[in-house]
Amino acid sequence: DLERATQARVEQCVRPEIRALSAYHVPPSSGMVKLDAMENPYRWPGSMVDQWLEVLRDVQVNRYPDPACAELKEDLKLLMGVDPRHQVVLGNGSDELIQIIAMCLAQPGRTILAPEPSFVMYRMIATFCGMAYRGVPLAEDFALDLPATLQAIEETQAALVFLAQPNNPTGNLFDLDAVKQICAATPGLVVIDEAYMAFTDRHHLSLMDEFDNVVVMRTLSKMGLAGLRLGMLFGPPQWLSEFEKVRLPYNISVLTEASARFALNHFDVMKAQTSELRQNRSELMAALQKLSFDKVWPSEANFILVRTGSGQARKVFERLKDAGVLIKCLDGAHPQLQDCLRLTVGTADENRLLLQALHGAMND
Ligand code: PMP
Repeated sequence: DLERATQARVEQCVRPEIRALSAYHVPPSSGMVKLDAMENPYRWPGSMVDQWLEVLRDVQVNRYPDPACAELKEDLKLLMGVDPRHQVVLGNGSDELIQIIAMCLAQPGRTILAPEPSFVMYRMIATFCGMAYRGVPLAEDFALDLPATLQAIEETQAALVFLAQPNNPTGNLFDLDAVKQICAATPGLVVIDEAYMAFTDRHHLSLMDEFDNVVVMRTLSKMGLAGLRLGMLFGPPQWLSEFEKVRLPYNISVLTEASARFALNHFDVMKAQTSELRQNRSELMAALQKLSFDKVWPSEANFILVRTGSGQARKVFERLKDAGVLIKCLDGAHPQLQDCLRLTVGTADENRLLLQALHGAMND
């Protein structure tokens, strides 16, 4: 019958490595305290929402977007302190930028390399693009294993290296000297992924003054605009003009462009929210250290990684869910993340609810 024939046809047509994947899983979260996805929990003040709606009134949704987004790019460069000789490519989230870069460099036999555990999209997008992937395990304390990384770069002649600074899900920054040695040793391109830049004081734009194979990626997602989807890639024009060819012409919608420009005009609001989150992080960290976790790792990001007692992570995750608090359970995601949970830093109230629920979950 048709159903069986369709299944057989799919199996014959779709690449086996794609069939072996699972789609990126997003759990239902309606009505929950949502601390699973590193979002900024704060909304805009009501008066700002009203002004935003006024801006949207003039947006022409009957027309295609302006693919150049020149003013938005200039605003971003200024606010982010990017050298005027560098360019910007915009993505529908930095997820899309990872894909654009990979599509540019992909060739059968070429390798994407990243430390592990790190952001899962690096591996997934390698698979989408038909590239090999090499994950180099981090050291025990989640620092880079520099000798192993340099050896893997040499062995694979890495075409593309991703370094998340700070790293997800471990929350730490990698040593700058180790990063530089990786840039120097990589025959291909090194992408410094600064998704969590708002929560740390160390940034890496200046690496582009030193190396001809470095670009820096950022996003507005963790600063309060996760729903808008705007990622940005900064780098020298020689690299970025190639990436620009692969970007689909209308990947940034008129609503995103207008809303992002509006939001950047109110960057002070976003900044105040992120500094409040940094304060909340310190308070949450101190409170977590008093609970009976095996380990609470320090964090330069808006989330904290913890390890429960052996075999307890799944139970704690489920108890929290029953109490209406959604976090991320990483047990089983990677050998080095056994018994680990990732907690996004929320508002003071949300963090209180999280701590209350943790108390209940860990004491029974
Ligand atoms: N890079 C890192 C390290 C991330 O953790 C994430 C999201 N969790 C992203 C990139 C993607 O962010 P977005 O697509 O929302 O810009």
